[in-house]
Amino acid sequence: MKNTPFENIQKRIKKASNILNLSSEMQDFLLTPQVILQKDLEVETSKGLEVFPSYRVQYSNARGPYKGGIRFHQDADLDEVSALAAGMAVKCAVVNIPLGGAKGGVTINPKKYNQDDLEKVSRAFAREMAPYIGVDQDIPAPDVYTNAQTMAWMLDEYEKTVGRSEPGVITGKPIVLGGSIGRDIATAQGGVFVLEEYLKKIEGSVQPKRVVVQGLGNAGYTAADILYKAGHNIVGVSDSSGGVWSEAGFDPGLVMKNKEAGKKLGEGLKLNSVTNEELLVLPCDILVVAALDNQLREDNADRVKAKIILELANGPTTPDADTIFESKGIVVIPDVLANAGGVTVSYFEWVQNRQQYYWQLEEVQVKLQTIMVSAMDNVLQTQKKYITSLRNACYILGVERLSSAISLRGRV
Ligand code: NAD
Repeated sequence: MKNTPFENIQKRIKKASNILNLSSEMQDFLLTPQVILQKDLEVETSKGLEVFPSYRVQYSNARGPYKGGIRFHQDADLDEVSALAAGMAVKCAVVNIPLGGAKGGVTINPKKYNQDDLEKVSRAFAREMAPYIGVDQDIPAPDVYTNAQTMAWMLDEYEKTVGRSEPGVITGKPIVLGGSIGRDIATAQGGVFVLEEYLKKIEGSVQPKRVVVQGLGNAGYTAADILYKAGHNIVGVSDSSGGVWSEAGFDPGLVMKNKEAGKKLGEGLKLNSVTNEELLVLPCDILVVAALDNQLREDNADRVKAKIILELANGPTTPDADTIFESKGIVVIPDVLANAGGVTVSYFEWVQNRQQYYWQLEEVQVKLQTIMVSAMDNVLQTQKKYITSLRNACYILGVERLSSAISLRGRV
């Protein structure tokens, strides 16, 4: 039987713990969420009175307040939310920001509900979780199928419930409600910073590359656009409807214009159509996976031709596929590093809310670059020390920092 998402990340944490010779008591502590909250949200939607299961897993606050997004998805369950929460704890430790790890989820198919319904569900979640979140306690943010508007509703409901203004309780807010400039492009920009640092350190310079991007959403399209403008050759892109490619390369902005106009991705452009499965195995130097989890698996990893995989999505590669990539010498820049730009600028948003003083885009970008480049360098040093993959190196670095905070607090 296949492992669940939480079992997969537990395996990765355990492997790092063993390499670090951590005690069995410390390992047990690292493998267990600190707090699990489960609330049934009763909401009068346009379809009648309904109950939506919801979760908030507060995985670790050893390094700072719990931090992590809230997902609205029909498949959201305790196992998935626990896996994502553990990932947040490791991620914040890898980029060394003073926050812990958490994640939330509501089991709902948001595509089947109107905006009024989604507002009611968002407000119900904020009301139920209000006693457990807070600027110094647990700071949610958007994730799959939640956005700045969702955060605005949740902020409003939370502040009404507690009776005070507290913008730092939630990040990923609209700018007018205290959001940070640069948060919208942060995940992609952070991924590009670590990729460029990797190329500089390993190849000595950043030469133009052939790039394929799966997932033309916030993370994927922004990454394609930044890489194209930096002189790389975008040879393939896709969304849930399928993909397009051209050996000569193209401007991803033209494809995005079609998508926004509700047309087929390649309409009016001299591009070839491909399925999503075909897109993942196109010849290229860099494959950016920015859609869903479990995209690179045992059954397709063998055919991947990219030399470097940049994981902007959470959990796009299964452990079996990881083993195949390692044996083929394909480098995976893992999610806990590659997409950590998002939580890093969320951290900046929280800092700005606390200071009540807001930064310009340039300041955000410079600070983001400093953190991402330093994280990549630390991961490369760890990789060299333990002679292992970048993913293992990330987990060793993250687990080392987490266990040191847990031990200094005397929790183990
Ligand atoms: P999004 O909803 O904006 O975009 C997702 C894109 O993927 C859409 O264009 C969708 O059409 C496409 N897609 C869906 N199924 C697909 C498939 N089978 N093949 C190809 N494309 C498909 O979401 P996003 O915010 O860009 O997030 C994407 C991933 O990045 C998620 O795993 C998310 O957890 C992760 N992530 C995002 C952020 C962020 O700040 N946005 C931060 C960290 C991690």
